[in-house]
Amino acid sequence: MVTIADLRKKYLGVPGCTDEDLEIVQAIRDFVDRKIMPRRRDLDGGWHHDEKLAMDTIHELHQGLVDLGLQRMFLPVEVGGLGANRAIGGMITEELSRGDCGLALHLGIISWTMMPFALAGRIDLLEPLLRKVCDDQPHASCMVITEPSGGANVEDPTQHCRTIATIARLEGDEWVINGRKMWPTGTGQSDLTYLTVCSTDPEKGDEGLALIHVPPGPPGLSFSKPMEKMGMCWTDWNGEIFYDDVRVPKEDRMAGPGKDAEIFHDIMGAGRLGSCLFAIGAAQACFEIALDWTKDREIAGRPVRDRSLHASILGEMAQRIECSRAYYQKISEMQGSGQFGRPGEPFMLSKCSAAQNYACDTAVWVPNKAMELMGAYGYSYDLNVEKYLRDVKIVQLWLGGPQRRWLDSALGYYSFEW
Ligand SMILES: Cc1cc2nc3c(=O)[nH]c(=O)nc-3n(C[C@H](O)[C@H](O)[C@H](O)COP(=O)(O)OP(=O)(O)OC[C@H]3O[C@@H](n4cnc5c(N)ncnc54)[C@H](O)[C@@H]3O)c2cc1C
Repeated sequence: MVTIADLRKKYLGVPGCTDEDLEIVQAIRDFVDRKIMPRRRDLDGGWHHDEKLAMDTIHELHQGLVDLGLQRMFLPVEVGGLGANRAIGGMITEELSRGDCGLALHLGIISWTMMPFALAGRIDLLEPLLRKVCDDQPHASCMVITEPSGGANVEDPTQHCRTIATIARLEGDEWVINGRKMWPTGTGQSDLTYLTVCSTDPEKGDEGLALIHVPPGPPGLSFSKPMEKMGMCWTDWNGEIFYDDVRVPKEDRMAGPGKDAEIFHDIMGAGRLGSCLFAIGAAQACFEIALDWTKDREIAGRPVRDRSLHASILGEMAQRIECSRAYYQKISEMQGSGQFGRPGEPFMLSKCSAAQNYACDTAVWVPNKAMELMGAYGYSYDLNVEKYLRDVKIVQLWLGGPQRRWLDSALGYYSFEW
């Protein structure tokens, strides 16, 4: 079992991190090593592997995470949560992602979808949801942004929400929503909210953007079957969401014209920063697999990792992972301090975007290099490197894609319209 001293070295830069925090992280890591690591292939052996085995394993592990208190860990004590702070949240999400970033995403999405309610001060809507999250059952939530015509344009701050084609019309005391969405995590599974990014009038730009809480189950809300994809095959369900005259109370809009767009841009920034943790956890796992394999595997009479060419690759892996973690911690501190603007404003969005891009480039590069060090065994199912690569690639692609984020990084330094 990993020691507190080992964890202290790993998370050296986390401000305010106490030994008590590290003991919690140690317990989560122990759960990951005992319960998740041995089940990685059952969780996801590829799209055409064994759906029933995957779903049974996911349900069992979700329940295990709920029993550990992780579903309510980041929620306020007043509603039954454990009130964990940002620092410990980051360490736990990374450790879970070291086991399986799809499982970590499932929990992350719940916190992410609750954020707009909190930012809008909608305690009336938030409290019943949080009470549900704090019970002893696994729950799922859904943030509905991407449309079939593209995700990057919706998230592009220079487009000012003008490309959104899902429309909310006010009729009396109700919003009537029509449109089509694509890909959201938790499609058809959410029992908390389908928090919908739509527009009252695309020509109004940011002023028209509406963030509307659509509870599961209203007439007119329907889903396609899950899309077949490369990774996170069963740990994440992604499909189409159809809105045909979906009616919700007028009060279920988060905050109103202008303010909704501000919240939307802020959760984009926060989502990009949070994505680093899935990437770093997956990269760390692949590094550990490669380190272990190359210890005993010999080339021309010497262990692979004792050859300078290979040792330098392992050293580069370690460097990139530590830089990703340190940069995440720095930007997380900046965001938490509130001194550098909101996460959706150009300066902080620039930093959150850079952090996600660096961590994701690392997370895709590390398993790729691990396979080169490990040869055919690295490419095989048995050693799981291929699974981490399949799972983590989407972390690089979601939330606008890497090119959009390079542009958003540039926008932190000077303004231009794309
Ligand atoms: C497993 C999974 C989970 C997901 N979770 C969610 C979710 O929870 N909620 C949700 O709403 N969506 C979700 N998505 C969708 C995801 O966020 C989008 O796929 C992503 O934002 C990119 O949108 P797109 O695929 O439509 O690509 P496009 O919008 O067509 O963009 C294609 C590429 O163009 C590049 N690009 C973008 N803008 C520019 C520019 N201005 N200049 C140059 N290049 C540019 C980007 O790099 C991008 O990769 C998920 C998808 C998957 C597969």
